[in-house]
Amino acid sequence: LDRTAYLALDASSLPRRLGGRPELLDRLGPAEAWQVREVGDGNLNLVFIVEGPKGSVVVKQALPYARVVGESWPMSLDRAFFEHEALSRLGARDPGRTPELLFFDPAQAMLAMEHLTPHKVARRAFMAGEELPLLGTHLGLYLARTLFRGSDWSMPTTARKADLALFAGNAELAGITEELVFSDPFKAAPLNRHTPGLDDIASAFRADRPLKLAAVEMKARFATCAETLLHGDLHTGSVMATPTDTRVIDAEFALYGPMGFDVGVCLANLWMAAFAQEGHRADARAAGAYCEFLLATAGILWRTFEAEFSRLWAHERTGILGGSDLFDAQGDEAGTKVALATHLASVWQDALGFAGMEISRRILGLAHIAEFETIADIGLRGRLERRTLAFGRHLALNRRQIPSIEAANLLAETQR
Ligand code: ADP
Ligand code: MG
Ligand code: MG
Ligand code: MG
Repeated sequence: LDRTAYLALDASSLPRRLGGRPELLDRLGPAEAWQVREVGDGNLNLVFIVEGPKGSVVVKQALPYARVVGESWPMSLDRAFFEHEALSRLGARDPGRTPELLFFDPAQAMLAMEHLTPHKVARRAFMAGEELPLLGTHLGLYLARTLFRGSDWSMPTTARKADLALFAGNAELAGITEELVFSDPFKAAPLNRHTPGLDDIASAFRADRPLKLAAVEMKARFATCAETLLHGDLHTGSVMATPTDTRVIDAEFALYGPMGFDVGVCLANLWMAAFAQEGHRADARAAGAYCEFLLATAGILWRTFEAEFSRLWAHERTGILGGSDLFDAQGDEAGTKVALATHLASVWQDALGFAGMEISRRILGLAHIAEFETIADIGLRGRLERRTLAFGRHLALNRRQIPSIEAANLLAETQR
């Protein structure tokens, strides 16, 4: 691939550079009338909203470095290719849940897609106290469909191996997750930071042998269990929603990994939003009511995931692990049910472990979340983060003993 022509976009050059694209002219109208603004709230890439007389689109371009750190952290432009490949697959597996893709330009590491409007990034809605009544259902369906349909339960062996090989190429981003999520929070890594006042708990985490053993185990699951194509970065900043619609964006970290990773990261971000509520609503009753919504959403997400995964198991188990010849075909329907229950129990246990890792890294690692970062009262922020860390540690250490989403929610409710 010839990247000599690569040049980062800016708002003023975009109409000139993309004004010949039929996919954009159809949607927007003539390039002379385009209005461009950079969104720029992500960690890694350039994102522009382009508005024309007929409509609007989003253009996303990878930079040869990580935007959050700067040019000192070089990063492969190929991530735009993997984002495009992943969004195409995830969109086919759960139609309507990703933005429509308009074009991909490999040399410019650039993709254009549907402008989601009036959608809001989910964590922004959480901070504003806006309820998204369908969020849990939509995410539960999305997780079941994408994780099942990308796995050996669904895919035939040749396609599956080819896909695994393709996404193995996204190793640089997999390596970032391995370090930032599973190692850095538990050692003195140069990019770590935490709220003043948390020095004691940060150093306690670095000395916590049981927690570090859990981190090693979860890292091994993440790195070695190539169970399905994951989104790989499914926090609530990668979800845009309205009260009636939910979309998943930003799939550049896509890789083959364990199902529980996407589920656990998503649940962790709902729980963290609940722990942060007091920092966004002075009225304790309002904060409590919004927490109820967030925990109910976590409950709906998991129960919907289980129900939809079970439905797909019954009707679409056509892949390498299909296995209906072992049980149903020989008159043993109970055998199939046991296999399903065993699998779901393992996803649940993984999800709890990964949730514990995600919580640790969002408070002690490099990339923090807006729900905590925007709490101006540093003392209050630190107190809320401290409680959240204790909860995350509990999840990681007790992942084999927490039997249900109700039990996990009860822990969140009483520890926050
Ligand atoms: P990064 O990989 O840098 O995190 P994202 O894909 O998360 O980039 O996009 C950054 C921000 O741009 C999002 O938080 C959202 O505000 C906005 N954005 C991205 N894609 C769209 C879209 N299709 N429609 C509307 N806004 C979008
Ligand atoms: Mg993002
Ligand atoms: Mg972002
Ligand atoms: Mg991203």
